[in-house]
Amino acid sequence: MKKYTAGKIDVAVVGAGHAGIEAALACARLGLETVIFTLSLDLVGNMPCNPSIGGTGKGHLVYEITALGGEMGYAADKVMLQSRMLNTGKGPAVHSLRMQSDRRAYQTYMKELMERTENLTVIQAEVEEVVAEDGKVLGVVTAFGGFYEAKAVIIATGTTLGGRIIVGECAYDSGPDNTKAATELTKSLERIGVPLRRFKTGTPARIHADSINFEVLEEQHGDEPPTYFTVEGEKSDGKMICHVTYTNGETHRIIRDNLDRSPLFGGFIKGTGPRYCPSIEDKVVRFADKERHQIFIEPMGASTKEMYLQGLSSSLPEEVQKELVHSIKGLENAVFMRTAYAIEYDCTDPLELYPTLEFKKISGLYGAGQFN
Ligand SMILES: Cc1cc2nc3c(=O)[nH]c(=O)nc-3n(C[C@H](O)[C@H](O)[C@H](O)COP(=O)(O)OP(=O)(O)OC[C@H]3O[C@@H](n4cnc5c(N)ncnc54)[C@H](O)[C@@H]3O)c2cc1C
Repeated sequence: MKKYTAGKIDVAVVGAGHAGIEAALACARLGLETVIFTLSLDLVGNMPCNPSIGGTGKGHLVYEITALGGEMGYAADKVMLQSRMLNTGKGPAVHSLRMQSDRRAYQTYMKELMERTENLTVIQAEVEEVVAEDGKVLGVVTAFGGFYEAKAVIIATGTTLGGRIIVGECAYDSGPDNTKAATELTKSLERIGVPLRRFKTGTPARIHADSINFEVLEEQHGDEPPTYFTVEGEKSDGKMICHVTYTNGETHRIIRDNLDRSPLFGGFIKGTGPRYCPSIEDKVVRFADKERHQIFIEPMGASTKEMYLQGLSSSLPEEVQKELVHSIKGLENAVFMRTAYAIEYDCTDPLELYPTLEFKKISGLYGAGQFN
């Protein structure tokens, strides 16, 4: 591919997920000429898993982002469907605000905001190369051959870098939500001396609301009045009801009987999983004495029938997933819209970074978000 010089900027941000958005807005608001690259403009601010912001171990981060001038809390307040302060039975240090969010409205908010922000350009292009020489970053090259000379480059590629989706015996290269995987950037980062590791995470199935028997389920209401992340931001008064159900002995039997078909236990998945996000097969094995696990049924948005089954993340084959979901009260006739999957991806070792998130060995190169 013939390269051409496409621009000279201060900062190139690779990836327009939650981390990339905050990084790009912060740079632009400081007056730095910034370009944020995204594989697709339709993916800006996508929530690849939970349609929610905050939660245990995360709500306080959203407050901190707000305190630092970030945008996530404002967007969350505006598109909130239900707001709940978690862990209120414990001390205030562990109270965590979690907001059920309209995921499409969140994306629209963030895309529009970035488009309106001075010094910031949003470009749909895959970054394939980070150029660095003598331990100093020089810029990035896109798949179309455009070289953007930059004083700093921020890698915020989430779970897309070298992404591979796994469902039972079925595996293919992909970013989350069946989006394109970024394959070339990994080689380029390795060439300039960025050590990469393989991690994995997973997401549950999405089912059609009309196939759920809500009458037999526990209702879960939000806080009244709702709690918000920001003081002065625009607020939704969303009062959507979520529902709760539980796995049972039969669900656990189905999982145990099929563990040999689980990529996690069959050894097809090489990546390490984050501790906070275990799959249902993981939970059934690790907490074998537990008779049931709680499942939250949550809307993916205000204008969709897609429902998220929080707590049922899995990489078992699709037919096993259906069998286990159908064994759960209220979900006997659940119609699958998206199958649960695990995803493996390339990320870096945070010990390679200074507390500023700059790579120790390459000045001007930073990592942000799930990539770290
Ligand atoms: C299946 C699954 C389950 C998850 N479960 C949870 C959960 O329950 N709770 C939770 O907090 N987090 C969960 N996550 C993690 C979730 O990814 C993060 O919360 C959040 O999205 C990370 O933000 P990010 O900005 O780091 O990355 P992302 O939001 O993933 O954004 C990365 C962006 O970079 C773009 N990109 C990547 N490579 C390139 C390139 N070379 N050129 C241009 N653009 C590129 C991508 O297209 C994407 O838009 C899950 C993720 C997945 C995929």
